[in-house]
Amino acid sequence: MNEPQQVNVDLSQAEDIVCENCKNYTFQEVALMKRLSALVSPTGKEALVPIPVFACNACGWINARFLPASMRGTAIAPPSADASQLKLEV
Ligand SMILES: [Zn+2]
Repeated sequence: MNEPQQVNVDLSQAEDIVCENCKNYTFQEVALMKRLSALVSPTGKEALVPIPVFACNACGWINARFLPASMRGTAIAPPSADASQLKLEV
């Protein structure tokens, strides 16, 4: 198997993702903002942590599947390598 790996993706076979709220099919990148208090911030100072997600271009809805896995449930954690050490309270 020395052939160069080439991945041809047939987008006609791919699922269209639409807004779960209004069925619009275009999205724009927005950011969730998390405030990390000085008590739990790795720097010891309060920090704002932007989390990029995609929101519906028409109504602003954010599909659940676009949210970081850590934000879909009740446990909220920043998407950093030290997530196990940090706990955000909402
Ligand atoms: Zn929408």
